[in-house]
Formats: sequence, C-alpha cells, structure tokens
Amino acid sequence: MEKEDIKIVCKDCGEEFLFTVGEQNFYEEKGLEHQPVRCKECRAKKKAEKMSKEKSE
Ligand SMILES: [Zn+2]
Repeated sequence: MEKEDIKIVCKDCGEEFLFTVGEQNFYEEKGLEHQPVRCKECRAKKKAEKMSKEKSE
C-alpha cells in the first residue's frame, strides 16, 4: 500500500500539520510506532524548553 501524507492536529497549538511520507519512513526506520502529536514548531519549542531546563538544574 502506498503511503500518503497524514494530517494531524497539533496537541499544543491546535494547528493542523502534515506527517509526511518522508517523515513516516524516518519514523519506521527508527522503529517508532507512534505518530507525532505536535507540529514541528511545538516540537522545537518543547525541545528548547527541555534543554534550558536541564541546563539550569
Ligand atoms: Zn503546534
């Protein structure tokens, strides 16, 4: 079956984003079964938050 881009509503900002075929392949390669729940922007934000938290601790 051919893959298609999947539309997902971001958990954080409520915006729709695309889980593209390329990303799906990437996830598969990594053995990840879950689809992302956040858009790229929110994921980047989350990551930055985590990094700055870890630094201050
Ligand atoms: Zn978002």
